[in-house]
Amino acid sequence: MIRFEKVTKEYDEETVAVKDITFEIPSRELTVLIGPSGCGKTTTLKMINRIIRPTAGRILIDGSDVTEMDIRQLRRGIGYVIQNVGLFPHMTVKDNIATVPKLLKWERSKIDVRVEELLQLVGLEPKSYANKLPKELSGGEAQRVGVARALAADPPIILMDEPFGAVDPLTRVRLQDEFARIQEELHKTIVFVTHDIDEAIRLADKIAVMKGGRILQFDTPEEILARPVEKFVHDFMGSDRALKRLSRIPVLEYIEKSETIDINGGWEQLGVTKEEFVWALDDSKKLIGWVDVSHSSRELPLREALTEMLEEEILSPDSTMKEALSRMLESGTMALPVVERSGRFLGQISLSKIQELTKSVREEE
Ligand code: ADP
Ligand code: MG
Repeated sequence: MIRFEKVTKEYDEETVAVKDITFEIPSRELTVLIGPSGCGKTTTLKMINRIIRPTAGRILIDGSDVTEMDIRQLRRGIGYVIQNVGLFPHMTVKDNIATVPKLLKWERSKIDVRVEELLQLVGLEPKSYANKLPKELSGGEAQRVGVARALAADPPIILMDEPFGAVDPLTRVRLQDEFARIQEELHKTIVFVTHDIDEAIRLADKIAVMKGGRILQFDTPEEILARPVEKFVHDFMGSDRALKRLSRIPVLEYIEKSETIDINGGWEQLGVTKEEFVWALDDSKKLIGWVDVSHSSRELPLREALTEMLEEEILSPDSTMKEALSRMLESGTMALPVVERSGRFLGQISLSKIQELTKSVREEE
């Protein structure tokens, strides 16, 4: 746990960058510091690894005051990732990642194994990337190397200052997804600075909303979206808070049972039904597609009423309600199936369920 106790940072009389902040950053979770430019995010972050010293107050890591810790020991336990990465330009990807392990005098064979493992982890094929120079990498690839380098000596804490800020929006979302997956595996204590609210909602366990050197609200994304404490936080979260909240809700909780039909059987399986369509499964309960009940003649074989599913129309158990909505809007369908990785059909998510959910969200507000 990283604890800020009445921490203030004044650069000079006019510039009080951080004003008397007290809060606790939980271990093994990802905490986002968010707020407009100049609100004190970077200053707050840099006081943790003592790049900047507080003017007043204390910062404790698991009970130890950082100003009293040995600086090398402190920094060894903290990985640091910044925008535009700051890779050493004349060093290969491999040597960049190995920087800290080399300082720690790891054996060469151990370093080699570690570099390979990290490149795999961040989605770069070791064979083709290890010997490249930073200038041969795209922005997204360089950022992945930056993440690998911060993780190299397996520090328990990672500080990230707008790490994905300099890449294009598509790459950015991909990096966020990959990073979320890495964090799910590693459970580091991460302090992540951003001014992008969607990024915060996608990644954060906890969000600290900052303004003018103060923390206005520190809570889970769900809570901040549902109950912003003041107008600034409300406005900062944007007008589409109901939609943003959907991106924190997994479809798993809202799967509805729905009628299915075995595609190898016949129409008689259905009997009388009010459904306009039913999901079609094979013998092993795998989803094949859907059958149009209201517009098909039961004189014709069942298979002729079958429409197969496109991959992008299928949700997985870890999809969010926001994804479900986006895909419904794209495909113009009122319900989408949820299917396990194995192909097993779990049920459906319907547009009416999403409408119910956003309605209850709005009423709460
Ligand atoms: P953020 O990361 O949220 O954009 P910073 O922590 O970088 O904000 O800056 C907070 C305030 O402190 C700003 O007003 C900024 O101009 C000021 N500031 C930051 N670094 C310095 C510095 N080295 N000297 C003087 N003022 C600074
Ligand atoms: Mg900053």
